[in-house]
Amino acid sequence: MNLIEKDLKYIWHPCSQMKDYEELKPIIIDHAKGVYLYDINNKRYIDIVSSWWCNLLGHCHPQINAAIKAQLDQLEHVIFANFSHEPAIRLCEALSQIIPNGLTKFNFSDNGSASVECALKMSFQYHYQVGNTKKTRFMCLSEGYHGETIGALSVGTMDLYAKIYKPMLMDAIRIEAPDCYRCPYGKCRDNCDVACFEHAERAFAKYGAETCAMIVEPLLQGSAGMRIYPPLYLTKLRAICDAYDVLLIADEIATGFGRTGKMFAFDHTGVSPDIMCVSKGLTGGYMPMAITITTDKIYDAFYADYNEGKAFMHSHTYSGNPLGCAAALAVQTILKEEQILEKANVRAAYLTTKLTETFGNHPYVGEIRHIGLIHALELVQNKTTKEDFASTERIGYQIYKKALKKGLLLRPLGNIIYFNPPLTITEDELDEAITIAYEALTEILN
Ligand SMILES: *Cc1c(COP(=O)(O)O)cnc(C)c1O
Repeated sequence: MNLIEKDLKYIWHPCSQMKDYEELKPIIIDHAKGVYLYDINNKRYIDIVSSWWCNLLGHCHPQINAAIKAQLDQLEHVIFANFSHEPAIRLCEALSQIIPNGLTKFNFSDNGSASVECALKMSFQYHYQVGNTKKTRFMCLSEGYHGETIGALSVGTMDLYAKIYKPMLMDAIRIEAPDCYRCPYGKCRDNCDVACFEHAERAFAKYGAETCAMIVEPLLQGSAGMRIYPPLYLTKLRAICDAYDVLLIADEIATGFGRTGKMFAFDHTGVSPDIMCVSKGLTGGYMPMAITITTDKIYDAFYADYNEGKAFMHSHTYSGNPLGCAAALAVQTILKEEQILEKANVRAAYLTTKLTETFGNHPYVGEIRHIGLIHALELVQNKTTKEDFASTERIGYQIYKKALKKGLLLRPLGNIIYFNPPLTITEDELDEAITIAYEALTEILN
């Protein structure tokens, strides 16, 4: 049996209809460097989606590799209750220099969904312990995505992931999210006054008293198709959360560490969340690690004599894993010393120009939207009516397969084609990706 046959014999791949693999076999990657993946036949792929949005500075970055290797011979893992280690401490010290004001305490877990679960439990228990026992529910935006464990699914609203599990989920309050491409108020991105915030106002008026926290993907609803909305929406959300004593949770798992052009999406707003979840880019996409970061105010509500029973009894075996911390610390050093964000922003402008030149007049590209290096093309049947392609046509999937043949890992979200490359990608690499994307798109749509 070859590797592909053995893979199909044993492995149930994530987020896949395994029957699709009959036709599109798993691609066995042998090694990777920078933005390129190489399979066992030495075929090369540009990883334009950062391997599920986590690879921040390219694959096999020498400095991150060295940091993990050095840590490996020192300490691979240790229980994190009562015990600690230098990489975790130094990491928190480094992060505290770059996170939004007011966030001071770091609770470690090992994946994004887990950090969201932690944030939900923390907000619930916070209110319980300060005497707000009526605050038991959560609010979220429609089309939101916060991971796939039960709590995280409950505050996500994408039918694709959550619908079948409805009977198992908590009953969260959903606020209709901004929809800037198909704005129901007939506004465009340049003249927006977030009229759609009326949905939030109504929800808070009705349910604010029973709500402990509101969770959002700030500025970018990633899984919904890289939907981008204005900072003003978050500023207003901050104010209304304060008015109703509702905690604001920022899920910066996809947006953190420079993806939106600033270190965190909340940095575009001038306000801070009460809790922030980070993962994905945190370790450069190397090690499974996440952190739920919060304020002294919340932390203090748990701080009491043991017998008061106020501790946060929440743990994960791999909390604070030293290898993950070593990788994350190396990422922080590189971001700072090499002015990665400044350079990425220059390439982001280049990418905007190039994509606009290439796809601006394309009959099926309804919108080219972008924030930081993240760029998305929304494919529509009709640019005037913005009519979508039927999901059964699987246009995105056809383009995905075509692009793979040509050496580009472009994994569309439905009919939305997007680039979310490592921040270190070069102009030449972007050009190569655009050329292949254009060919794949044209061949499928014509
Ligand atoms: C990826 C993602 C998650 C879930 O993280 P996992 O590590 O896959 O559990 C949660 N929220 C957002 C915004 C994400 O992009």
